Amino acid sequence: MSTDPMTIPMSAPDLTESERAAVTAVLNTPFLSLGPQIEAFERAFAAYVGTSHAVGVNSGTSGLHLAVIAAGVGEGDLVVTTPFSFIASANCILYERGIPVFVDVDPLTGNLDPDQVEAAVTDLMARSPQARRWLPPAWREGKARRGELKALLPVHAYGQPAAMDPLMAVAQRYGLTVIEDACEAIGAEYRHRRTGTLGHIAVFAFYPNKQMTTGEGGMIVTDRADWAALFRSLRNQGRDVFDAWLNHTRLGYNYRLDEMSAALGLAQLQRLEELLSRRARVAAWYTERLAGAEFFQTPTIVADTTRMSWFVYVVRVRPPLHRDAVMRRLAAVGIPSRPYFTPIHLQPFYRQRFGFAPGAFPVTEHLGEVSLALPFSGVMSEDQVDRVCTTLLRMTP
Ligand SMILES: *Cc1c(COP(=O)(O)O)cnc(C)c1O
Repeated sequence: MSTDPMTIPMSAPDLTESERAAVTAVLNTPFLSLGPQIEAFERAFAAYVGTSHAVGVNSGTSGLHLAVIAAGVGEGDLVVTTPFSFIASANCILYERGIPVFVDVDPLTGNLDPDQVEAAVTDLMARSPQARRWLPPAWREGKARRGELKALLPVHAYGQPAAMDPLMAVAQRYGLTVIEDACEAIGAEYRHRRTGTLGHIAVFAFYPNKQMTTGEGGMIVTDRADWAALFRSLRNQGRDVFDAWLNHTRLGYNYRLDEMSAALGLAQLQRLEELLSRRARVAAWYTERLAGAEFFQTPTIVADTTRMSWFVYVVRVRPPLHRDAVMRRLAAVGIPSRPYFTPIHLQPFYRQRFGFAPGAFPVTEHLGEVSLALPFSGVMSEDQVDRVCTTLLRMTP
């Protein structure tokens, strides 16, 4: 595909001859699914992240769904999570008829506020009268069956790790499972530890706009052998695999990652340090040019983030300039940009089903109004960053 040098894409994969050769090689074998590529990709991925097991699946969303099943979430069970995320991190709870308990985020990072999580968990576990205020409005009346609080599902938003130590401390106190949504944060480090090793289960995603891609694809990592075996069974129609204890019928899915995708993933993983450092370089170009801008605030990387993994480059638009006006003015000169994220609780389906209304999570809603993702990828040139920034810096209210 040739691209007009004047068009700046919102995102773009970083692919070389090694990826193309790896995919083509698979097509010269008879193994297009559940073959040697996925085994090699899983082994290399587990080694990279630092977990005992890695299980490939056909999307990050599928991986999150299986993680929620492993956590034992069933009808009416509660999972504490963030409303400031991509919708899949909450939808996966709904797939098992669980109830998302949204907790507002830290204004600096956009990640779950651990103090509020502790307050929510304490109230919910005590089943105190104050517990109700954490539930979605439509669940506060106590008519619907309310199950147990089972899990915490923090998201490492934009590639910056959530405050995992305090979250793990609360989870341990009450025996809750912690699922890291690490779909935006491969290679990121929290207090010198890699995302994927911080909770009990973590999920990564490889859609083409992520730091590394398999086309469609995802990976679940864990140190627990029983969960890894469960994931292998569930992704493959609930078939009995490896362990005798799995020898009963369960409802499974087709969440398999095919061999071409796995080969692509393995080739990308071998280049991951390069992919991440190129993205960091593009982020640094943006930050350099936008430092001190009157109407744009560059991302804040907190001290606990000992390595940022740049998924997107998101600025906050300062009043009296409006985010949506900035978007329109960028679009007028051919530069794409996106509001990122749109709060989950305000999505039409969530309002309808759970009774959420504006005002429920003020920090999330504020971030949802001022955050703007700029064009970003590891293959973006310095000239392209210049064009975006020059356009932004000329804007006045
Ligand atoms: C990308 C992403 C996912 C899931 O990705 P898929 O498109 O299903 O692979 C989940 N959570 C977050 C926060 C994401 O950014």
